[in-house]
Amino acid sequence: MKPDRTGVHEFDRRRALAEAERCLYCFDAPCTSACPVHIDIPGFIAMLRSGNGPGAAWLVRDANPLAETCGSICPSEIYCQASCTKAKQDTPVRIRELHQYATRSERGREFHPERSPRTEKTVGVLGAGPAGLGCAFELGKLGYQVDLYNDGPPGGVPLKSIPSFRLPEEDVVRDVGILARFFRTHDVRIDAAAFGAITGTHDAVFVAVGLGRDRVLGIPGEGLRGVYPVLEFLETAKKRPHALAIGSRVIVVGGGNVSLDAAATARSLGAADVMLLYRRAEEQMLVWPAELAAARRMGVEFSFRSFPLSIAGEDHVEGVMCRRTRAGKEIDDSGRPVPVEIPGSDFLLPADSVIVAIGQDLRADWLPRLDRTGRGHIGVDGNFRTSLAGVFAGGDAASGEGTVVRSLAHGIEAAKAIHAYLMRQS
Ligand SMILES: Cc1cc2nc3c(=O)[nH]c(=O)nc-3n(C[C@H](O)[C@H](O)[C@H](O)COP(=O)(O)OP(=O)(O)OC[C@H]3O[C@@H](n4cnc5c(N)ncnc54)[C@H](O)[C@@H]3O)c2cc1C
Ligand code: SF4
Repeated sequence: MKPDRTGVHEFDRRRALAEAERCLYCFDAPCTSACPVHIDIPGFIAMLRSGNGPGAAWLVRDANPLAETCGSICPSEIYCQASCTKAKQDTPVRIRELHQYATRSERGREFHPERSPRTEKTVGVLGAGPAGLGCAFELGKLGYQVDLYNDGPPGGVPLKSIPSFRLPEEDVVRDVGILARFFRTHDVRIDAAAFGAITGTHDAVFVAVGLGRDRVLGIPGEGLRGVYPVLEFLETAKKRPHALAIGSRVIVVGGGNVSLDAAATARSLGAADVMLLYRRAEEQMLVWPAELAAARRMGVEFSFRSFPLSIAGEDHVEGVMCRRTRAGKEIDDSGRPVPVEIPGSDFLLPADSVIVAIGQDLRADWLPRLDRTGRGHIGVDGNFRTSLAGVFAGGDAASGEGTVVRSLAHGIEAAKAIHAYLMRQS
């Protein structure tokens, strides 16, 4: 078993077969129900065990067209592994690692899913992240002519922002390459005019543009050089790392998985002191435990129960003025105590740069006619229909920050809803 730089384990054949032996092959397969795309988990594990590697890889990819991507970074601890019956005896079967092994060991093998006869109907898909790719692929298999519009190469956040030490670009590119036979891709930035033209051209449209706008702190000093919104930071770190001069002392503000990625990336770029500033306690972070442990292994330090009041500096960041908090009595929507400021507890942390990672919002001002949720996401019903006839939406743009496999599942389910809608139109 080979640990990568973040300590995530990748199975070799011997370890995969030993892990496959642990599966109980439950008749009701709670793991399959818990996997958002419902991979036949006992089925592919049984194939691995009996030496049918191609069959195992086919079962995984047939349900999960982003098989390599999810094999590397799916948070299985909140999905399939969370309901593994084996955990009642000792530890859950390491399903993500088996999924990854099944896919990687058959890399390069042709995958030709069935394709229905071609129809005359066309569908436009906006955004080529997991949701858009899943939808375009599924509709392509159903025989529709699909045009996928995206600003840049297809792959969404997994290609642009997830650090390569967790998810190599080649994994995403290989997945996309397999799917791309089923649709046409257009490199275009959608605006109001393009949206009007696309809805006028296609019989149905699926909007899956993700969450591309970083939230701001709204504190003095945020405009100084050396302050980075997190998506801009992560994208630049992947594409042009030499363009970033973050110095040796970096402060990351935030308490989610994205902030951990930013902190680990800052360390990988050579910053000696990386401090994550979070206004609540460690146990209230909304993170996956494996990611938190990985950030610690990479040397990231934490200042819990503190938040930034202002960013200090003349032209460039020199430090962050912080204040401590304590847990208040009031409980917020997330079920966590609201942090309360402690007067007189201010302290200055010296810094060369600051990364702001406090969440993302929808960046689609060109979508004025669609109803929104209270949180500003695109409002949809149980069939991914928006308030505009023939326009569907899914993924993070409709449900807020999620996961690759959840967005992919949205795309696949929305494709089926679009198919049902178009059948009724004919
Ligand atoms: C740093 C980071 C790390 C993450 N780590 C993980 C992880 O380890 N595991 C996990 O499961 N999930 C992870 N996630 C979450 C996961 O990446 C997202 O939930 C998922 O990518 C959302 O998919 P989506 O298709 O809805 O949107 P996106 O992936 O955001 O894709 C939207 C696409 O639409 C395009 N687009 C947007 N606006 C326009 C426009 N106007 N015109 C044309 N194209 C447009 C974008 O360029 C993009 O390609 C992470 C997220 C971030 C930010
Ligand atoms: S896609 Fe994720 S949830 Fe589904 S089997 Fe693979 S690791 Fe588990």
